Amino acid sequence: MPKPFVYEQFAARVVLGELADVPGEVERLGVDRVLLVVTGSAKTAGDRLQELLGARAVGRLDDVRQHVPLELASKARLAAETIGATGLVSIGGGSAVGLAKAVALTSGLPIVAVPTTYAGSEMTPVWGITSDGEKRTGTDPVVLPKTVVYDPSLSRDLPLDVTAASVANALAHCVEAVWTPKANPFNEVIAVEGTRALSEGLRQVLLDPRDLDARGDLLYGAGLAGSALTSAGTGLHHKLCHLLGGRYGLPHAETHAAVLPQVTRVLAPTVPEAAARLSVALGKGELATQLYDLFEASGVPTSLRELGLTEDQAREAAAGEALVQTILARAWAGVRPSKDD
Ligand code: NAD
Repeated sequence: MPKPFVYEQFAARVVLGELADVPGEVERLGVDRVLLVVTGSAKTAGDRLQELLGARAVGRLDDVRQHVPLELASKARLAAETIGATGLVSIGGGSAVGLAKAVALTSGLPIVAVPTTYAGSEMTPVWGITSDGEKRTGTDPVVLPKTVVYDPSLSRDLPLDVTAASVANALAHCVEAVWTPKANPFNEVIAVEGTRALSEGLRQVLLDPRDLDARGDLLYGAGLAGSALTSAGTGLHHKLCHLLGGRYGLPHAETHAAVLPQVTRVLAPTVPEAAARLSVALGKGELATQLYDLFEASGVPTSLRELGLTEDQAREAAAGEALVQTILARAWAGVRPSKDD
């Protein structure tokens, strides 16, 4: 029998289909006045979506930035109010859905999310807003998108470096989900299957970036990863990444790739059975080494040094904590974890 646990499921409707499904999904929610939130690099898809929504699309925001600056959130909230929006549709990565969440947080408007990266934010009730260089985050079921529409063709042209970093972000949700205090066996199934889909999808995309089946695998894996994060919450790994991103401005997704193998090296032995299952989902070997090798093979930086962090900053971030110091020193230098170290 598993150890006693609590598993809470957050409801979201997930559709693996195509962009043309969005108007029907919007209608299903009874939304007649849409504020569209479009990431710059998904502009063409955003234009197509606006056309598909027709008269329902009464407003559009194209200014989307990472970590949702407060002034952008305020502008978006005002826009939603001014046009009398009854719902939000986001198309883009974590930053686009993040902006829609900021509006939903104060207005209660429902979100339909159309993701174009693998960050997984569309499956979580977690919001984040940045002001004065500090990112505040919180959890509120009102920001969880009501419907997610995955269309693999939308991420087909996502550059390989952005793809690999984004997959590292998603894998971090799956891996960390097995050792947080809220880890539970229902969620472990999700995390393991997410890991399988993400690693197989990434390997295939590296061979053929425009392979639609592989892009579909990655979106499916990203959805599972976001769901795993929602149930398990975050632990040491995400805390370190948020600290490094907030204080030193490191890029969100890439930071995960450098830090995850080093945190895994330390924490996987505390959950050996779950770690073994994740390991099988990735192939063969030690979990920390497998993650490192996968990231290295996909060309994503595996050291914080490559992301512009100085050695002094890595030391300062550890704030004298021995375990964190070891993790960050190794992550800074990009040391490959191995069985013997
Ligand atoms: P992002 O949305 O900024 O997108 C990453 C990059 O990909 C950007 O340069 C973007 O322009 C580009 N891009 C997006 N779609 C594209 C496409 N179809 N073709 C070409 N380029 C495209 O970043 P992200 O990594 O998706 O998300 C990171 C943000 O999401 C961070 O702010 C992070 O904190 C947040 N996040 C939140 C949660 C949550 O649960 N709330 C979970 C994960 C990430």
